[in-house]
Amino acid sequence: MIVRRRWTAAATTAILISAVLPHPGPAAAAPANPATPITLTATETALVQVRLRDQAQLDRLVATGADLANRPRARDGRIVADLVLTGAQLADLTAQGATAVRIVQRAGDGSRHYAESIRAAQARTAAGLRAPAAGQRTTTAAAVDTLQVQQAYWWTTGGQTFLQAQVATTATDDPDVEITVSWRTADGATGSFPLYRFEDSGEYQYHYALPQPVPSRPVQLTATSSLGGVSRVVTPALWPNATPPPLPTGYQRDFIDAYLTPIDIQARIKRLARQYRDLVDVIDLPNKTQGYRRTAVAYLGDPAVAAVLVESVRFGDQGMNGVQVRTVDPGRPDRPLTVGYRDRVLTVTLATDAAGKTVSTTDDVAAAINARQASRFRATVEDGSAGLPMPVTGPARLDDGLQGTEVPARPWTVQALRLGVHRDGSRVGVLAYSQEHAREWATPLVTLEFAERMLANARTDPATRELLEQVDVFVIPTVNPDGANYSFNDFPMQRKNMVNHCTGPARDPRYRTSWGVDVNRNYTVGSSFDGYVGASANCLSGTYAGTGELSEAESRNVVALAQNHPNIEFAMNVHSYGGYFMWPPGAYRADGRITLPRPSIDESTLFLSSARRIVGAIAQERGTVTWPSQTGPVADVLYSAAGNSADQLYYELGIFAWDFEVGNDRWNPATEEWESVGFQPPYDEAHAESQEYAGGLVELVRVARDYAAAQPPAG
Ligand SMILES: [Zn+2]
Repeated sequence: MIVRRRWTAAATTAILISAVLPHPGPAAAAPANPATPITLTATETALVQVRLRDQAQLDRLVATGADLANRPRARDGRIVADLVLTGAQLADLTAQGATAVRIVQRAGDGSRHYAESIRAAQARTAAGLRAPAAGQRTTTAAAVDTLQVQQAYWWTTGGQTFLQAQVATTATDDPDVEITVSWRTADGATGSFPLYRFEDSGEYQYHYALPQPVPSRPVQLTATSSLGGVSRVVTPALWPNATPPPLPTGYQRDFIDAYLTPIDIQARIKRLARQYRDLVDVIDLPNKTQGYRRTAVAYLGDPAVAAVLVESVRFGDQGMNGVQVRTVDPGRPDRPLTVGYRDRVLTVTLATDAAGKTVSTTDDVAAAINARQASRFRATVEDGSAGLPMPVTGPARLDDGLQGTEVPARPWTVQALRLGVHRDGSRVGVLAYSQEHAREWATPLVTLEFAERMLANARTDPATRELLEQVDVFVIPTVNPDGANYSFNDFPMQRKNMVNHCTGPARDPRYRTSWGVDVNRNYTVGSSFDGYVGASANCLSGTYAGTGELSEAESRNVVALAQNHPNIEFAMNVHSYGGYFMWPPGAYRADGRITLPRPSIDESTLFLSSARRIVGAIAQERGTVTWPSQTGPVADVLYSAAGNSADQLYYELGIFAWDFEVGNDRWNPATEEWESVGFQPPYDEAHAESQEYAGGLVELVRVARDYAAAQPPAG
C-alpha cells in the first residue's frame, strides 16, 4: 500500500481540500461570522483561534509542545490562543472545556493564496502594471493593594485612536483582583475598560488589555482595583513617537509581486547579483541542507489489520522510489523464513510448518528484513500489529510521498546576499535573515524587498548610497529552504526543516507532517538541553529542538555567517505573524522563571530606542503600529523560546539581535476586534507586510550607521 497522502497540493494547483472537506467557501480565511459553525475533520490541520478553559489548560498545552502560533491573550477573562491543530486535537480540547472561536487559516488557504498571487502578478505583467502600492468602578473598602502604571501609550492609525495600558498590582498572588482603567480625552470625553491578568510560567507579570479604541487623544489615565487600589493619574505618551526621514521623490520600492518559493528566491538572488555587480556578493553558506528529500516507505500488509512498515535507508530519489516489497507463500512444508532482494523487489518468503501453513509473524518478518537487508531497508512492526500472523501480501511500492515535482532532489546550498560599497569588513555589519520557519511565507518577501530597495536606490538616491557606503548588509532570505519547499508543495503548515530524527514507530508515515527540527530552537544559548523552557525533546513536536545543539545545517549556517563576519553588530530575525518586535532575553528556566541575563541599562536603552525608530518606520507604510505591549524582550512579551537564534547572536557574539513577527493584527471596526492574519494570508496582505517591514529594515541600517558613527575611533 502506498503512503496515504493527506496534503496533495501541487505547486500551482489552487486547492483540493475543498472538494473533500466541509468548507465554508472562499471566505474561510476571512473573519468568521460568529454564527458560522467551525468544522474541521479529524485529520485536517488548521490554524484555529481557541478560547481555553483556564490557565491550567494552557500550561498543559505548552508542556506537551503544542504548536502555539502567537502569544495567548486574555479576552473577556478567558485565555485566547491561536493553535495549529488537527480536528481530532480540537475535539479533545473542546471536550476539556475549550471553545473554538474562529479558523484563521485552513491548510488549503496557503496554496490558494500562492496561486492567486501568481495569477494576479501575471495579469499585472500582461497589463503592463506594477503591483499597487499598497464605566467607572467606585472604590469601597480601604485599599489593600497599590497599583503602578507600567505603560500608557496612545497612537492614531487609519483615523482611529487607540490606547494601551499595562498596570501591576502589589496583590500579585490574588488571581481575582480586577483592574479597570479610566481615561479622559483632551475634549472631555471619558470611558473605561477592564485589564486582564497576565501570568507566565505560573508567575504574575501584570494586567493589560489589547489596544482600545478611544474617540481622540487621551490626556489622562488612572487605574483602580477591586481591592481599592488607585494608581497615580498619568498622561499617556505617544507611541512610538519616532518618524524616519522622509523618502526622497523618486525613491524606488515595491519589488515583490507574488509569493516566492525557494526556487524563486534562488533566481532572485542570481538576478540581483548580476544586476548590481558593484554592490553585491553572493555567499554560499558552508552547510548544505538535506534537501527536499525523504526516505521511501510502504506498508507490507494492511496497517488496519497486520502490517510491517518497510523504509528505505537511502532517500526515495536515490533509486528507492518504486522499489517493491512483498511476502510470498513458498507452497511447500517446513520452509524457513527467507529474505531476498532482486530486480528492485524485496521478497520475504514466509516460513511454513509441516502442514505447509505459513507461520511467520509480523515480528519475525521485521527482524528478518533488519538482519539480512540492513544496508537497504529498515522494518518496523506497525503499532497494534505485534505478534500477529504475517499475511501473504503485496507487492507494495515504496514511495517518498513528496509532491513537489519541480524541486531538485539534492542537498540545498543556502545563500546570503552581501550588499555594500565596501564589502571588506571595514564597515559595521547588519544581518537580516528570514524563514527559519518554513510556513512563514511573507518573511522572505520582507528581506528581499529590503535588499532590492537598498540596491536600486543606491543608484538614484544619495542618502541610500551613503548608507551602503557606511554599512555592510547581509541578507539570508530563506534559512530553511527544504521546509519551505515542503510547505509550498506538500503541507502548508510545515514549520520545521525536513530532517527526520524520529526512531521506531514515530517514523510511521502517518506522522509525516510532524517530522523535522525547529531551526529556531536548535541553537546553543539558553537551550532546552540546558534546561530552558519552550522547546521539546519529542521529534514530533512543533518545537522539537533536534538531537543536540546545532545538530542542523540550517542553524549552523546562521552561526557561521555571523562568526565569519565579526563586523556584524546588528541582526534581525524575521518571523511571522502577530506584530512583535523583540530582543533578548528570549528564554528562561522553568524553575523560578530565571531568564538569561538581562541586557545592561545602556543596552536596554539602545534596544528600546532603536525599536521605537524602527516601529515608526514600519508605520509609515500603511499606519501599522506594533503595540507597546508587543515591543520588548521575548521572554516578557511572547514566551520562552529555548535555543533561539537571537539569543545565540547576542550572548555568544555580542550582536544586537532582534526578532520581528511581521503580520500585525488588523483592526476590524465593524466588530471592534483585532484579527490575526495568519502565516499565508491573501497576497495583498503579505505584500503590504513586505513593504512596511522592509522600511523597518532600512531604518535598522540607519540605526547601525548612527551607532557606528557614535563609537570612539578604534586604536
Ligand atoms: Zn517563526
